[in-house]
Amino acid sequence: FKGPSCLPPSGAERIGAGVGRMSNLVLERGEGSWVYTDDGERYLDFSTGIGVVSLGHCHPKVMAAVHRQVDKIWHAQVGIGHHPQMLELTGKLQKIMPAGSNLDTFIFVTSGAEAVESAVKLARHATGKPNIIVFQGGYHGRTLLTMSMTTNKTIYRAGYGPHAPGIFVAPHPYYCARPGNLADPTQWTVEQLELLLLTQTTKEETAALIIEPVLGEGGYVPPPEGLLKALRDFCNRRGLLFIVDEVQTGFGRTGRMFAVERYGVSPDILVFAKGVASGLPLAGIAASRALMDAQPAGCQGGTYAGNAVACAAANATIEVMSEEGFFQNVEERGMQLTQGLQVLQQASPELIREVRGPGLMIGVEFNDQKVEKGFASKVSKACLSRGMIVLSTGVFETLRLIPPLTVSSSECQHALAVLEAAIKEAAS
Ligand code: PMP
Repeated sequence: FKGPSCLPPSGAERIGAGVGRMSNLVLERGEGSWVYTDDGERYLDFSTGIGVVSLGHCHPKVMAAVHRQVDKIWHAQVGIGHHPQMLELTGKLQKIMPAGSNLDTFIFVTSGAEAVESAVKLARHATGKPNIIVFQGGYHGRTLLTMSMTTNKTIYRAGYGPHAPGIFVAPHPYYCARPGNLADPTQWTVEQLELLLLTQTTKEETAALIIEPVLGEGGYVPPPEGLLKALRDFCNRRGLLFIVDEVQTGFGRTGRMFAVERYGVSPDILVFAKGVASGLPLAGIAASRALMDAQPAGCQGGTYAGNAVACAAANATIEVMSEEGFFQNVEERGMQLTQGLQVLQQASPELIREVRGPGLMIGVEFNDQKVEKGFASKVSKACLSRGMIVLSTGVFETLRLIPPLTVSSSECQHALAVLEAAIKEAAS
């Protein structure tokens, strides 16, 4: 495969340098778990466009829904009136919100970062308080506010100050006590939060705490046992809103429609994007009607927010995910990949520190004491040269596997063989 050695194609020189890219592949077509390049190569896509095409590329039911909508109306601007696809979508979303939650009201925007901004705006307006607590290692976007809330890599922040004020960064056990030497990481985290309220921002001036249920760009890190419940309790005790950023974990990625279901908590605001519309730009927030009603009309949304074609794709996506047995495949393929990777870990325990993650959000962390810096990227390149797209994440040499949730058993088997060979090559 030419993957790693592809030269920039004509036209690429006119794209600004600030947009990063792991390869110069020209992706012309996608089908299921595979993408096809302009020169006829076929790659197994374990990146899903960074956790977006969760039903695989061009799922027939989503494609049909998009085609139907394109023939009717594309841009039914939501500040002017309603469109049927959004009216249907609010009903579908309400049905799939975590059981027992009061998340029955929605605002649509276009990207994950915008949705996080919407959540912060809602929290600030509803509480009348300015400050937000985020976690070290979190990723929330690239806009000024969300960049200021992002602390997984300095590349997203350095040189763009001054950052937005009112953001306080709580330590995350994964970053602050490596490798996992805290007796009770959940209790430790809550103690750190209490300390933060005593030393940096009082509860009277703190609107909300926001966390990704599983850290995404920060390393594919599932929460320590009981953490999300403890954070929910902390927010209740201190009068903070509890916001979960499910941009990456939502829409089936962790084996449940939303990751909070896995961890048994209900947030006050749930932020979603990526998988919701299988690749068309759609994102949003969910909250209770009472909370949403705290804002006056007109302060949220945007020109393209809740685009009709994107909403049609979302309705079809939710329908497919609601089909019998859908999540069983996520669990089974997740187990298959995890067990296969654990076999590799047992064969090279000095190399692979940890295989982790719920559902099909799987991190493989290499031992950064043993491997050279950039090792995970080296493995990712070695995968590309074998016809498979895999991304790295975080600052601690971690690969992340985000295949389509519809990935087959034989595709996973193939992926494991590629990963084994790629890790061997990178280590040699
Ligand atoms: N939050 C999380 C958890 C994300 O993973 C991302 C994107 N990687 C974002 C927010 C930002 O989403 P977008 O790129 O659509 O703005």
